[in-house]
Order: sequence, then C-alpha cells, then structure tokens
Amino acid sequence: MLFNPINKSYYDYAIERDKEACINCEVCVRQCSYGAHFWDDVRKSVRHDSSKCVGCHRCEAFCPTACLTIRHKPTEFRENAVWNPKFLKYIYKQADTGGVLLGGMGCPTNIPVYWDKLLLDASQVTNPSIDPLREPMELKTFLGTKPSRLEFEEASEGPRLKTKIGPQLELEVPIMFAAMSFGAINFNLHVAMARAATASGTMYNTGEGGLHRSLYKYGKNTIVQVASGRFGVHSDYLNAGAAVEIKIGQGAKPGIGGHLPGEKIDARVSETRMVPIGSDAISPAPHHDIYSIEDLHQLIYAIKEATAYTKPVSVKIAAVHNAPAIASGVVRAGADIVVVDGMRGGTGAAPAMIRDNVGLPMELALAAVDQRLRDEGIRNRASIVASGGIRCSADAVKAIALGADAVYIGTATLISVGCTVCGRCYTGKCPWGIATNEASLAKRQNPDVAAEKMANLIKAWGHEIQEMLGGMGLNSIESLRGNRDKLRGVGLNDTELDILGVKHAGR
Ligand code: SF4
Ligand code: SF4
Ligand code: SF4
Repeated sequence: MLFNPINKSYYDYAIERDKEACINCEVCVRQCSYGAHFWDDVRKSVRHDSSKCVGCHRCEAFCPTACLTIRHKPTEFRENAVWNPKFLKYIYKQADTGGVLLGGMGCPTNIPVYWDKLLLDASQVTNPSIDPLREPMELKTFLGTKPSRLEFEEASEGPRLKTKIGPQLELEVPIMFAAMSFGAINFNLHVAMARAATASGTMYNTGEGGLHRSLYKYGKNTIVQVASGRFGVHSDYLNAGAAVEIKIGQGAKPGIGGHLPGEKIDARVSETRMVPIGSDAISPAPHHDIYSIEDLHQLIYAIKEATAYTKPVSVKIAAVHNAPAIASGVVRAGADIVVVDGMRGGTGAAPAMIRDNVGLPMELALAAVDQRLRDEGIRNRASIVASGGIRCSADAVKAIALGADAVYIGTATLISVGCTVCGRCYTGKCPWGIATNEASLAKRQNPDVAAEKMANLIKAWGHEIQEMLGGMGLNSIESLRGNRDKLRGVGLNDTELDILGVKHAGR
C-alpha cells in the first residue's frame, strides 16, 4: 500500500536563496549535515530541499555572499484556538512513524520566565553605589557545607580557628559550566570546557558519561557526575575531580532516564563510558540502589569514603512540586551541595511531551527550596546551585538574590560556541559540531577557540555581575545571596510573589 508521509509537506523551515548573488561555491552543501543543499548536475547549480532543513542557520552563517535566509515556512493552517499547528504536526509525525516525539535542549513553550518579571534594585542617595572599576568587588564563592558556628582557640600567634570546615569548592565567579556528558557533546568541547573552567577559576561538570583520562589533569576544575547508569564510574574517576555530583533528576526530563544512541558511541566514548562501541547507553529512570533518603545517604557516604572525605558531594534534583521537601531530605542525607535544575534546562534528547509538560520553572523551585532550608535551620549545611535556563548575567544575579550560591550554565555555554538552539541534538548531526561525535562535524569545534569563547563569556558576565552588585551598593556576592529585598516583581500575582518571597514593584 502506498504510504505517503503527510508530515513531509508541513516542514518547518523555508530556505531562500538569492540566485543573483549565489556564486555556486557549494559552501552550504558542505556545511549542511542534513543534506538540505545539493549540487544539481543537470542545472549546474546549487539547489535545496527545504523539507530537510532543521533551522540550525549554519549555512546562512557561512555563505560567503550572504545570499541565504532561513525562514519559518509560512504554512498557515485554518485558525483554531485549540488545534494549534504544533499539535497537528505532532500528530502527523506520529501517524507516520508510530514513535515518541523527541526534542533536544530545554522546554521552549511560553511558560512564564520569572527572571523577566523580576527587577533589581539600585542605590541612590543613601547607601551609595560602588564603582567596581575603582573599588574591590568580591565574586569569590565557596560551595560546600558550612558550620552553624565558628569556634576559635588561643594560640601563640593569636586566635586560631578550631572548627573543622568541610571540603569546599572555591570559585572565582559564581558561574559554572553545567553537566554535559562526553557522548552527548564531543571530546573537543569537553576539552574546551575543562580549559575554560581552569582559565576562569571555576568548574565544569562531566555529566554522566565519565571522564576521559587525558582530562584528569584538569581535575581541580572538574566536578565528576555519578548518574543512574554509572557510566565510567570507578575509583580513579571519583578521585579525579574536585567534587562528585550524584544526579537524581534533570530539569529537562524529570522522572525519566537517559538514552545515548549507539551511533554516538565511538571508540573514545566507549572507553570512557565503559560500554561497547555502537551499543545504546541507557540510564535507568531511578538509581536502582536508591529508593529512599536512607539509600541516598548510603551512596553519599560511600562516595565520601571512596574520596577520603576530601571532596564535597553534590546532589542534583529536578525542579518538581515537592522539591523543597526533597532538598531537605537530600541535605539531611549529607549532601554538601544541592543543585536545583529547572524545566528549561537543556538536554541532548528528551521525549518532547516530558520536556514541555513536566517540572517547574527553576525560579519558583529555587525560592521554595532556599526558604524551606532556612525555615528548617539547615540552610548552612549545603550550598544551593541553580541551573536550567540562565540566559544572561542578570538571570544569575536574580538567582543568587533568590537564594542560590552559584549557577550552572549549559545552553548558554553551547550558544557561546555557535549553537542556535535548533533542538535537534538527538539526531547526532549537529552542523555546529557540538552535539555530535561524527569526526567530520566535531572538528568544526577547535578546542582552543571554543575554550576562549567560553572563558570570555564567564569574564563578561563576571564584569556585569560586578556592575550590578556595585549599583546595589554591595561589594561582595556573599551580601546578595538570598537578599530578596534587592528584587521586586512586576505583573505577578500574590501567590507567585509569596513563593518567590519578593514584594511587588512600587512597594
Ligand atoms: S554558500 Fe551561498 S554562495 Fe555558496 S552556493 Fe551556497 S548559497 Fe550560493
Ligand atoms: S545548514 Fe541548517 S539552516 Fe542550513 S539548510 Fe542545513 S539544516 Fe537548514
Ligand atoms: S547543540 Fe547543535 S543540534 Fe543541539 S541545539 Fe545546538 S546547534 Fe542544534
């Protein structure tokens, strides 16, 4: 029976080529890994097939005569407030394939972005602002458990700290590169993140795919992750980093596991993950040894034991309805750092229904977690790291004012090296050479250049954070943490203001 895929007619992008300006150089043919541009030997010219375009804009960026424009294809279905074209296309696609709809990156739907509804305060006459170019401005951040009180003892050289302080991560700026596994992104970018973190005095996170041995030398700036699949986890790995993070949940896909397709498992990924070449690497939804806080406590202390109590242990949870209670349990189980990952956090691949409909915006979860730990008198026992949708330095500043000690940036890191958030990371064909292990594509990312761009991003955001702090009359990031009086809400209802713990603008 003839099976005509309906969806093929309703593709999302239209390639426009200015034929007058095109010089048939074939750059676009070489740049597009989806085969949307091709050489037509009959017409002796470059042509295209818009139905193959995923809107990554690589060809547009590299066309030497700027004669390409990638637009949304203007198919307009009959207006219907319920049956939005997105759902029609989803159904056509599923009727054609019978498969789960996949998506990459974070939730793209228009659920409120609370960062845009929060405004920062600034000093005026009293408590004057501080000029960060002329006066010291401290961004240094320590992540890890802090004692509830400090005790000193007398010594010949003067008072000496008696209280033992647990291991801390020391950051020059309160921004870290988020967990992105080797496999989901390629080796060149892992090298770049390691170098950028080292140059910026911050950390990068291995994600769940293990750590290639050639990167052990960057260990002081590395957080190694332990996820449900336990890929690449062994004693050397746990001891290679400055901290160990247990991933319980991920904001982009709370409640489900992960899946790295076999096509992405080449020899180097296989060696690092400890899985056979070409086999799918599937992370189960739960850790099969964790079904309670007591079980989590055992894993935290097994890791502390394995690392001789020299490294902080972090636990990452997805922002879900009962995140405050979960975070409280996580802290009581012995975690030194709690990572709250919101629904706009990126991922290489997630079922689109989960990505777009499960979880919470990080802003609400972060404020609720910070408040709960304060109410229970255990806020000092763990640092909070906010992650999932931090787009600029102002978002980072607002997250810290809502209670975070530091933030993770993942999508922003990838954008700094060219990612256009096309959301097709799961295809393994990323034309920007990021979410791909194909050697011909991965080589588009030069680790030195990528590291410089990533480090520049951190440097720029660091300067901006200093400016914003100075404008508020603060001279250290420490003074901003949880200082919600520096925030005001606009266009928020009483419940939202209550959860965020901020007053409405004008009050
Ligand atoms: S890269 Fe630009 S100029 Fe070259 S063939 Fe493609 S559209 Fe034409
Ligand atoms: S390079 Fe990207 S934007 Fe250009 S045609 Fe291919 S998929 Fe479309
Ligand atoms: S990493 Fe590549 S595939 Fe993924 S969203 Fe960015 S440009 Fe697209």
